[in-house]
Amino acid sequence: MTTDNPHWRLARTPPSGWPTDGDFDFNTAPAADPGSGQALARTLYLSLDPYQWGRRRSGTEQPGEVCHGRTVSQVVASRSDRFAEGDFIFHTNGWQTFGLVGDGIGCFNYMYPRTLDPAQAPLSTALGVLGMLGLTAYAGLVVQCAPQAGETVVVSAASGGVGQVVGQMARLLGCRVVGIAGAEHKCTYVRDDLGFDACVSHQSPDLTGELRRACPDGIDVYFENVGGAVFEAVLPHFRQGARISLCGMISQYGNTDGGDAGAAWRAAGAATFKRLDMGVHNLFVGNYVDSHQDEFLARMGDWVRAGEIRYREDLWQGLERAPEAFSAMLGGRNFGKTLVGVTEDPTDDGDAAQRRAAGNTLG
Ligand code: NDP
Repeated sequence: MTTDNPHWRLARTPPSGWPTDGDFDFNTAPAADPGSGQALARTLYLSLDPYQWGRRRSGTEQPGEVCHGRTVSQVVASRSDRFAEGDFIFHTNGWQTFGLVGDGIGCFNYMYPRTLDPAQAPLSTALGVLGMLGLTAYAGLVVQCAPQAGETVVVSAASGGVGQVVGQMARLLGCRVVGIAGAEHKCTYVRDDLGFDACVSHQSPDLTGELRRACPDGIDVYFENVGGAVFEAVLPHFRQGARISLCGMISQYGNTDGGDAGAAWRAAGAATFKRLDMGVHNLFVGNYVDSHQDEFLARMGDWVRAGEIRYREDLWQGLERAPEAFSAMLGGRNFGKTLVGVTEDPTDDGDAAQRRAAGNTLG
């Protein structure tokens, strides 16, 4: 029997700016049959991430290709020794309902397909707090910036997938934590629910002044997710010995000139001007998979299971909504890690939606 595989393809290399309807094409085609060493998997959750827009804008993803994306899936047919029918897996299957996994298929940025145990954590967390986003937060904060108890840590896009983990880890490490977010309800959430000491809105006409009041002793560690005007507002507040992790520049991803490529130089310039000895780190999570993924999974798994780190997800039901959800995320209309529920998760106990909205995916 033929299985239908609804999917999204990139319709064109987007000209500039942010996603529009003409960028994506929804199609269906028969799902592939697994060859020797391969399995066919049904997508449960699809991760939507800002970097996907960079791939589309830059031509890395070509028109006609199935849109790229990391996924959690269940194996439905297998000719593989590694993946048995019924297994839950993490892999990179893209914006489609079915896909193959096997040698050389489904790997991206050194993150290889692996099986998941739903008894350890809800499956969707493999795309967030216990996946690439959590490792990004861990690598930038803990490995690159090594915050010390009592230091002031600032993180932008503080309620998002990466930002919420950065801030909570910094709090657990004994730091004073200040978030930067957009809407007031996001600021309230990171302050009151996630335990940040303060959160300022980048929509304030005086962001620099707000930061000065929130960080009276200056900033020791800055985790950058946004770039642009937010980065400019943060620059004056660095202290001697400050460390910056340049994780992302989402405000610039719609630009035609490749974005805020000068941020590292401007940070270095500001440091020279103020005679500061600062460390500016560019972050690429793929560089930390081999060296830190095991350590990260052990530490983060403990924090999450103990309820010390909470994790909010923004789940959009239905693959057909992927472009809408993607645009919302890029425009700040998400609230937590953005996911698409593609097909039913058989391990969902029915209370998952409530826990997601409460920021407690595990409780
Ligand atoms: P988020 O869940 O944080 O979603 C993006 C958020 O960015 C929005 O919710 C919005 O939050 C904020 N934002 C968007 N546009 C602007 C703007 N113009 N000014 C200020 N804030 C804006 O996304 P992720 O957690 O998935 O990603 C966070 C960052 O981490 C991204 O820059 C991403 O590219 C980067 N990243 C980098 C990796 C690496 O290896 N270096 C790996 C993974 C992610 P708000 O409403 O609060 O403004």
